[in-house]
Amino acid sequence: MTQTVRELLASERPTWSFEFFPPKTPEGEQQLWSALRELERLQPSFVSVTYGAGGSTREGTVSVTERIATETTMTPLAHLTAVDHSIAELRHVVSRLAAAGVRNIIALRGDPPGADPQADWVAHPEGLSYAAELVELIKSMGDFSVGVAAFPERHPRSPDFDSDVDMFVAKCRAGADFAITQMFFRADDYLRMRDRVTDRGCDVPIIAGVMPVTNARQIKRIVQLSGQAFPAELAERFEALDGDRPEDKAAVRAYGVEVATDLCRTLLDEGVPGIHFITMNRSTATREVHANLVGAPSVTTAG
Ligand code: FAD
Repeated sequence: MTQTVRELLASERPTWSFEFFPPKTPEGEQQLWSALRELERLQPSFVSVTYGAGGSTREGTVSVTERIATETTMTPLAHLTAVDHSIAELRHVVSRLAAAGVRNIIALRGDPPGADPQADWVAHPEGLSYAAELVELIKSMGDFSVGVAAFPERHPRSPDFDSDVDMFVAKCRAGADFAITQMFFRADDYLRMRDRVTDRGCDVPIIAGVMPVTNARQIKRIVQLSGQAFPAELAERFEALDGDRPEDKAAVRAYGVEVATDLCRTLLDEGVPGIHFITMNRSTATREVHANLVGAPSVTTAG
């Protein structure tokens, strides 16, 4: 039986993990599995699959997670959101994951469906309103290791940082075993949040979510989707390097790897319990950062 994230965090620190999203096309499927197989060689502590906003990508989350559990050596973590689901439907998804041997789930409220993550949140009439309720539901269904989301710069809907930390601690007290942060780019933001959480007597391990920037045009989208700021000095440097020539693109990528490596080094020096790479279903940049940090096998293929 695969280990839970709770057990992994108790026995190995830092944990190394990779995040993927369910593909929408056959080409996307191929790219996902090529990245998964490349990153499997690094023997990650676990790999996670995000939960889509609706329809077929949701089915994709469950089937990719099931396949990771049954066809690879890796431990899967399924993301699950409360968006547009009744409690009965949420129970059904959790049961399917359990039947495939998936024991790790990150419980999320999710963003409103549609292009604007800041649109009004409307709960399903027979569903849940907050992630804490989903934590309780999953925990009531079996021996799952349940994670929650953390926001180094506060969740964009929270009125201020302190109330965000209070809600986060309440979510942990609902039964969370670990947390993973939204991607962030300043170690100080993570450390400030971690210290405030610890000050409130909460010792749930908070794994750092890190995304190596590989393309200067990603930055605007990152800010829009995550609601987190992107440091101006880094944005300016990425913009200055950006261009249409292949050497410009290579320079942006190299700088993205350097920035992510420096961030991880600071976090590791500060005793972060784990690093969770948001891979965008590509393996090369993540492998480069990982190799800079732990001297993993050399990078051989583009992706
Ligand atoms: P909650 O913890 O419910 O918080 C939402 C807001 O409500 C916060 O402002 C919080 O402070 C406030 N709040 C919480 N409880 C209460 C209460 N009792 N009373 C009043 N206010 C309260 N989205 C996806 O769609 N699919 C994914 O796979 C996915 N994966 C993610 C993985 C990670 C690691 C992270 C950090 C985010 C992920 N998201 C994903 C995005 C996430 O769903 C959104 O950020 C969402 O807006 C917040 O989810 P949450 O679980 O933090 O919500």
